[in-house]
Amino acid sequence: MSESMKGLKRTHRCAEVLTAEVGSTVTVMGWVQRSRNKGGLIFTDLRDRTGILQIIFEETSCGREVFEKAAELRSEFCIAVVGTLEKRSAPNSQIPTGALEVRAEQLRILSESETPPFPVEENSKTREELRLKYRFLDLRRPDLQKKIMTRSKIAAVVRQFMIENGFLEIETPTLIKSTPEGARDYLVPSRVHPGKMYALPQSPQLLKQLLMCSGYDRYFQLARCYRDEDLRADRQPEFTQIDMELSFVDVDDVIEVNERLLQRLFREILGVEVKLPIQRMTWQDAMDHYGSDKPDLRFGMQLRNVTEVVRNCGFGVFTNAIKAGGTVRGINAEGLGTMPRKKIDALTDTAKTYGAKGLAYVAIQPDGTVKSSFQKFMKPEEMDALVRAMDGKPGDLLLFAADRNKVVWDSLGAIRLELGRQLGLMKKDDYRFLWVTEFPLLEWSDEENRFKAMHHPFTMPMEEDWDKIDSDPGSVRAKAYDIVLNGTEIGGGSVRIHQSDIQKKMFEVLGLSDEVAQQRFGFLLEAFKYGVPPHAGLAYGLDRLAMIMVGADTIRDVIAFPKVKDATDLMMNAPDVVEQKQLDDLALKVDEEEARRIEAAMKK
Ligand code: ASP
Repeated sequence: MSESMKGLKRTHRCAEVLTAEVGSTVTVMGWVQRSRNKGGLIFTDLRDRTGILQIIFEETSCGREVFEKAAELRSEFCIAVVGTLEKRSAPNSQIPTGALEVRAEQLRILSESETPPFPVEENSKTREELRLKYRFLDLRRPDLQKKIMTRSKIAAVVRQFMIENGFLEIETPTLIKSTPEGARDYLVPSRVHPGKMYALPQSPQLLKQLLMCSGYDRYFQLARCYRDEDLRADRQPEFTQIDMELSFVDVDDVIEVNERLLQRLFREILGVEVKLPIQRMTWQDAMDHYGSDKPDLRFGMQLRNVTEVVRNCGFGVFTNAIKAGGTVRGINAEGLGTMPRKKIDALTDTAKTYGAKGLAYVAIQPDGTVKSSFQKFMKPEEMDALVRAMDGKPGDLLLFAADRNKVVWDSLGAIRLELGRQLGLMKKDDYRFLWVTEFPLLEWSDEENRFKAMHHPFTMPMEEDWDKIDSDPGSVRAKAYDIVLNGTEIGGGSVRIHQSDIQKKMFEVLGLSDEVAQQRFGFLLEAFKYGVPPHAGLAYGLDRLAMIMVGADTIRDVIAFPKVKDATDLMMNAPDVVEQKQLDDLALKVDEEEARRIEAAMKK
């Protein structure tokens, strides 16, 4: 059975009856959460995106026909009810509308539902794969609806703020030219120009810079971006950026407007007051103290550099690492001196995944004596000096790594986070923001045996470092900044190069010949000939920001139709094969054997 809603008009969503007068007639529409027949009374929980509202059917008030129809109601039927709003005799304090109910007079079954493959309920225990296959049902779950609605509100606040602050919302195309640098591009074959490809943008980077060249001064966009990266948990091949670019500005200007944006967002969405200015830390300090370019500031346990303290000690692991140009650093896990050996071994395994050969430890006993993995190599005074350098007190556990800087930072940074987790020091509703500034301009790639841009090739070097670009390129810092929240990078950006000579030099350092630079970025270089304003910008990952703000554990919870780890959409079954005719139109032929080989290699 499926009835029309002709003649009916919804007067309230479920939770909106709170604003209606008791005794008035309301018309509500939604889905049956559940319906219980208690003899002469039928109680139906009606659900829509605002919440649940109890409907009561009693033969004396709705008549026999409606009562019998109501007896047929099953979960997920879509219905309309006209009735009188009443006070409940036994209020339910669990739901906002718990003091009210609607005494039904009319009922229409707008459409019936088969038994759903899983119950539509909060905190579903159903495995995610099944929920994603039936995402349209999963999206009915109140907790998920709340997250998706909060995301919408976040986007609305952003738009409002940006417009109030003189930004123009300008759309940029999503069929563009492939300009690979960074991740892999998604390609879209052209039919009109067979054999040629569009690319989907990894970000609107060059286009927003061109908008500055064109004088639009302040731009923003909620921009869909695409990156064909290797499969990683909690990554999406397409994602949304809050993307912005500003003219005639420097680092501080970008930071200032973004601090106000963050303050406004957290105030309006969460009622949380972000204190300004937000703390700033250079990349170097972040690495030295936290072993990470996105430090989680909700707890201390900072890294300490003890290279000088152990430079001449008896422990070869330390001294050899130093001789090879590395460092020795440690963290003081205060109060964890009694950690069982097994747990220390587990931490060592974590360190090893970051390339460390091991983890040296000192456990300071309550009486002040030490138990240590390298005690026999150390003179008592050497050990004393080390414990002192680490501020070690009875009951503390000191953990050390000795290696190349990168390995030491990465492994101790990871261990610090692991300990923070184990000790419950990372509270979800404790929001610690941080600007990380002065990133290195370049990053050496062992794989490609060349420097790569740490942010992107259009990032402005710091003036005071530019003269080292030939002699020591790795030491040149950039006018780049990231905004970090609780150990997650939620956004990043930079001041851009606006001088063609610096841009040319940058391409040269990155190993791009004039010819290749011209072929890929010719349009930008051309634009740079005609009066370029100094400009800078930033982009947030909206999905990640929303995830943190709604307290979700996965990014998929704030995306209506997400893809899974291997980039497939389980509901639509995308990607999928297409008809031969479609391939023919594009002059494409699939090499089946090669396709199978690549797929098998990918699964390894
Ligand atoms: N386009 C950059 C990115 O996606 C952000 C920026 O520099 O504005 O990381």
